[in-house]
Amino acid sequence: MSSIPSIDAVREATLVEPKKAKSFSLKDRATHGSSIFDSKKDAKASLEEDALAINDLQDALFASKAGALLVVLQGIDTSGKDGTTKEAFRYTSPLGVNVFAYGKPTEDELAHDYLWRLHQNTPRKGYIHVFNRSQYEDVLVVKVRDLAPAKQVEQRYDQINAFEKLLFENGTRVLKIMLHMSKEEQGERLRERLEVPEKRWKFNPGDLEDRKLWDDYQIAYETALQRCSTPHAPWHVVPADSRTRRDAIAARLIRGELEAMKPTYPDPGWRPEQYPID
Ligand code: AMP
Ligand code: MG
Repeated sequence: MSSIPSIDAVREATLVEPKKAKSFSLKDRATHGSSIFDSKKDAKASLEEDALAINDLQDALFASKAGALLVVLQGIDTSGKDGTTKEAFRYTSPLGVNVFAYGKPTEDELAHDYLWRLHQNTPRKGYIHVFNRSQYEDVLVVKVRDLAPAKQVEQRYDQINAFEKLLFENGTRVLKIMLHMSKEEQGERLRERLEVPEKRWKFNPGDLEDRKLWDDYQIAYETALQRCSTPHAPWHVVPADSRTRRDAIAARLIRGELEAMKPTYPDPGWRPEQYPID
């Protein structure tokens, strides 16, 4: 018997509860995902169905222009930010989905406030945008590597919450997903990047420097998830050790978010019989 968890169940299992977040620890969250999808076969079937539904919902959203969706994807190197995007949107028209990846800020970006480069890429109504890394890098890598004064980093949690609230109150829903992976699994995937010729381009020796700072990153993530899980933009922790389950869980969340927007095709204001085609 197949058992696909309901969207509500997946939401609940991954949610960082905004009010209870004070005691939030990543160690309490599994990295495997088998408590959500016990079989890979079910995860595959669920992903297939959700990817088709995401396409239908996106089409209606595009037609209605009733709102927008921003999917924020965060996770340590190799956690699968690209893979998740590719699978959840495997059937979606590229016309309505845009992906933005944020790396080291350019000189121009550094000459502005840190939210400047993000705000430029928020979705217009009718669109879905995916941020592969995001404003959260400014309280993650920046904090762990001391790239800005501690006092400024400290102010950013509230600033990010205000930014996301601004988006939400102006018609953009914000779905935040952290891909949560074990250090062992990251080791496997980094080895794979060294060994498989087609994956080598993804390897960056800097990833090993970040790996040495694993515990610091986990703590920085905990603080960010704890302080920035809000009712208007809660965080979800998605177990990422199993690629199949990770994609299926993320797709459930994305579908849920789009369904909550209830996109409907607009009434064109005319009847087809008015336009006889000879
Ligand atoms: P990747 O996503 O693997 O292509 O790597 C992008 C790199 O850019 C990662 O090491 C990020 O930590 C880094 N990065 C992203 N945003 C920032 C930022 N605001 N400041 C410094 N480094 C950043
Ligand atoms: Mg990388």
